Amino acid sequence: MKTFVKCEMCKAEIPENKCVFATHKKVSDGKEHIFCCANCAKAFEKKK
Ligand SMILES: [Zn+2]
Repeated sequence: MKTFVKCEMCKAEIPENKCVFATHKKVSDGKEHIFCCANCAKAFEKKK
């Protein structure tokens, strides 16, 4: 069974078994946030 993680910015579904480098992870406030791309990670940071 495939598991998906969701990009926290655009809500795109990212297959968890995909190459780990295809997702962007950011740790902020001790929590891990997952994004589909660097742009989403940046946009999330700007939102704060
Ligand atoms: Zn995204």
